[in-house]
Amino acid sequence: MIKVPFGRPDITNQEIKAVVNVLKNPILAHGPLSRTFEKLFAKYTGSKFATTVSSCTAGMHLFYLAKDIKSGDEVIVTSQSHISTAHSISLTGAKPIFVDCNSFNGNIDTSKIEKKITKKTKAISLVHHLGNPSNMNAIIKIAKKNNLLVLEDCATALGASINNKHVGNFGNAGVFSFYPIKHITTGEGGIIISNDKKIIDKINMLKAFGVNKSYLKRRIPGEYDASLLGLNYRMNEISAAIGIEQIKRFPKFLAIRKKNYNYLLSKIIKKQSFDIVKFENKPFYGSYYCLCIVIKDKKINRLDIINKLNSEGVGTSIYYPKPIPEMTYYKKKYGYSSLQFKNAEKFSYKSIALPLGTHLKKKDLNLIANSINKVIKF
Ligand SMILES: *Cc1c(COP(=O)(O)O)cnc(C)c1O
Repeated sequence: MIKVPFGRPDITNQEIKAVVNVLKNPILAHGPLSRTFEKLFAKYTGSKFATTVSSCTAGMHLFYLAKDIKSGDEVIVTSQSHISTAHSISLTGAKPIFVDCNSFNGNIDTSKIEKKITKKTKAISLVHHLGNPSNMNAIIKIAKKNNLLVLEDCATALGASINNKHVGNFGNAGVFSFYPIKHITTGEGGIIISNDKKIIDKINMLKAFGVNKSYLKRRIPGEYDASLLGLNYRMNEISAAIGIEQIKRFPKFLAIRKKNYNYLLSKIIKKQSFDIVKFENKPFYGSYYCLCIVIKDKKINRLDIINKLNSEGVGTSIYYPKPIPEMTYYKKKYGYSSLQFKNAEKFSYKSIALPLGTHLKKKDLNLIANSINKVIKF
């Protein structure tokens, strides 16, 4: 039985009160709370603009639509991420061009990007894998030289920064997820940050049917015109109310995650057969999303270790179950073979994610460390 789940949303009376207050009023969408949440989030990340959406996937899809990425275009994307990072490209009709990740923290291998650039390439999409910042210096340099857009998938990277600049501010936009086990939650939800007003203005239209007038600017209720092909990807007021309370508490969450990580590092006995992905590598600062163990020894079966950890009561997860190009949809569509993305295979097939969240008590941390020490023998 799992005694310590991998992730658990941190919900207090503050969030519950905020939700109840929304429900006592008639404004459940198009309201002021999403604006407030956007302001607070932009302030925390040091970005000029932010706009709430229904999920991180919706946010990435909207970015490509706003920049007119379409069939015939190519977008370079890391092969080691959530399927959403590639699906948001494919949804536009464009082709994702996969690049392997590096061998040490699973971020896109920047030395392999330029070889994949063609006349059709429009953008580079990267993820800050498990909250470790990607090498944005190298990526922005390549993007500038080749006139490419850059989208940062920051779904697990709230709180991560390089040289005191929060991730999501290096490329043209950054997108965050508020799925329940991410750093903060709104139930389901996401947000796009950007320092480019044009991108945010266009996304604000596209997330609301492509309508030309926001709700508040309509002189006569119900009066509007649609000038773009848009979707309904907005965040509702109930979610925004939760988000406001969560972002206020987030600095505390991050400090707890960091403390948990350092405590586990001090208690886990280092052994030859596995590595632990590091979070602190100045000037890179991670978001402590999870403790990621990578099995190095070929004789050790990962599933066996996961089963044993779970039966000790320790919840685990896998980030991610396969390199994206090896997921059936992409394998069938483009015919990628295994062994093309060797480092992504290492993380997908050999890593185990352990909890770092705010739900962990001292005894839970000890259980996690002791179980690892017991289960991985050499
Ligand atoms: C969770 C996650 C997503 C998807 O986020 P949603 O809000 O569920 O759409 C995308 N990318 C990464 C890296 C993720 O971890």
